[in-house]
Formats: sequence, structure tokens, C-alpha cells
Amino acid sequence: MTEVSVTKEDAVASGELVVLKSVNKHFGALHVLQDIDLTIDRGEVVVVIGPSGSGKSTLCRTINRLETIDEGAITIDGKPLPQEGKALARLRADVGMVFQSFNLFAHKTVLENVMLGQIKVRKADKKKAEEKARALLDRVGVATQADKYPAQLSGGQQQRVAIARALAMDPKVMLFDEPTSALDPEMINEVLEVMQQLARDGMTMIVVTHEMGFARSAANRVVFMADGRIVEEAAPDQFFSNPRSDRAKDFLSKIL
Ligand code: ADP
Ligand code: MG
Repeated sequence: MTEVSVTKEDAVASGELVVLKSVNKHFGALHVLQDIDLTIDRGEVVVVIGPSGSGKSTLCRTINRLETIDEGAITIDGKPLPQEGKALARLRADVGMVFQSFNLFAHKTVLENVMLGQIKVRKADKKKAEEKARALLDRVGVATQADKYPAQLSGGQQQRVAIARALAMDPKVMLFDEPTSALDPEMINEVLEVMQQLARDGMTMIVVTHEMGFARSAANRVVFMADGRIVEEAAPDQFFSNPRSDRAKDFLSKIL
């Protein structure tokens, strides 16, 4: 057998993508994130669930530095999060984020929404950016809406455009914060299906959602949060059939 020496670069390339170590954050007197340790591997799909106010959104927002942290460390691809400037803009492109409210630019067309970041942050030329935008709009099933403005689309279509816009930046990881919570019921599935496909294509994803069907079928791991802490982490089958903590049992009894 030949010996293979594994360099740090190899380890990074094969494994850990997002690492949070002893992360703490306060909002005034509120200790919103308490000693969060979380590692997400390349290609992994992690679903974060927990009661309202448990810190799920804050957790997501710290990963692309929409929120700063008080203590601890967050690295992406082995590198600490940049503090400011162009490096921060690139981080936000590397960490695609899709919110509950679609947050599209209202005065830009759908196509322009998906082109803009490519040109401004990734310095793509206009023709390439348009080609890529059209391909992505096709991938999420809204190619025919390219020249419309966001308000002319349904919520489900807008959310799929938001996903295309994030994907246009070739993100390393995608964060979804309750992406279907603001949608009418009949539009939830069309968004979940796009997310399912992304997961199958190997995208690294962190998904805050109450859609337990999605968690069961797409997640590699469920992270359960309560009161700013990670209370429990498990494979979905194990978590849903046999939650260990009383907090998780109580939460599941209310939503299932
Ligand atoms: P979740 O997404 O799990 O519902 P959040 O991360 O949104 O939880 O919020 C966790 C707690 O932090 C809540 O009590 C919320 O009111 C509080 N919080 C969130 N954002 C802020 C903020 N910018 N300033 C003060 N308190 C905040
Ligand atoms: Mg939230």
C-alpha cells in the first residue's frame, strides 16, 4: 500500500465547508446564540427547525455576516468571514441566501434581477450574464417570465427567481430561511421541488423550514434549536421517529 499524505488543502477540499465554533451572540440582554458548534460538509443538506424565536434566522444571518457575532469563529472553506468591502460582497455571493420575503429588486425585470450580481460582484460580461440568467430561469421553471417585473409574478414564481438569482453567483452554500412560509399553499411545492433538485445536484444547503416532508426526503441531518442553543442533531429518520430531548418531543407533538 502506498502512503498518501493528506494536506490541509485536501482536507478542506473533501470535507468541511461551513464551520461554526463556540459562536455566541447577544441582542442587548438577550443571549440569542449560545455556544453554537456546527459543521456542515460539502454537499450536505442540513435542515434547521425549532420554535419561533429560537435563533434560527440569526444563525443564518451570521453565516453571511448580515449579523456580527460576539464570540467564537465562523469559517467558510477554512477561511474566516471577511469584515468589509469587496471581500464581504464576495462572501455574500459565495453564501447565497433566500428569505421568506422574496427581496427581489422591484424596479428591475426578472432577467435583470438574475444578471445584476453577476456583473457587479462577479464581473461577468453582459452577454455571459444574460445567457446564464436565462439558463437558470429555465432551470427553476420561470423562463417565460424573464421580461416581467417581480410584482407581476406569483409568490412561488418570485421565490424561484430569488433562488435563480442566488445560484447565478455560483455560491458555495445556499441558505434558505423559511423560503415557503409566506407562500400560498398551492405554491409551496413548486419551490420545494426546485430545492429538492438542488439538493440532488449536490448543493450544500442550510434550510430553515417547517416543511417536515422536505426535511425527511432531502436532509442529511436535522438540527433542532431552542432558546439559542442546538439542543439536538440527528438524521431525519431518527429525529422524527425518536427525538431524544423533551424540547424536541414537545415541538414535534405540536407541528406533526
Ligand atoms: P427564529 O428565526 O428562530 O424565529 P430569530 O433568530 O429571528 O429566531 O430571533 C431570535 C430572538 O432574537 C428573538 O427573540 C428575536 O426577537 C430576537 N431578535 C432577532 N433579531 C433581533 C434584532 N435585530 N434586535 C433585537 N432582537 C432581535
Ligand atoms: Mg426566523
